Amino acid sequence: MSAIPAHRSHVALVVPTLSAKAVLPWLLFAALLMLVAMYFVSAEQGATSLLSGTAVHEWTHDGRHLLGFPCH
Ligand SMILES: [Zn+2]
Repeated sequence: MSAIPAHRSHVALVVPTLSAKAVLPWLLFAALLMLVAMYFVSAEQGATSLLSGTAVHEWTHDGRHLLGFPCH
């Protein structure tokens, strides 16, 4: 005989249902953040640079190499 009473041996799991309509704005927001991150990792300090200097390059330097972007 187990220590758990029979009426408590099963736990009901309630999985929240997500609709596409509820998730879509968050997916778009995440995609926008990813595009901004990709810009700073890949294109910033290049021809379309928004910021002068090498600060962004230094901050994203390891990320560039991790993603295979040539930088030097
Ligand atoms: Zn590098």
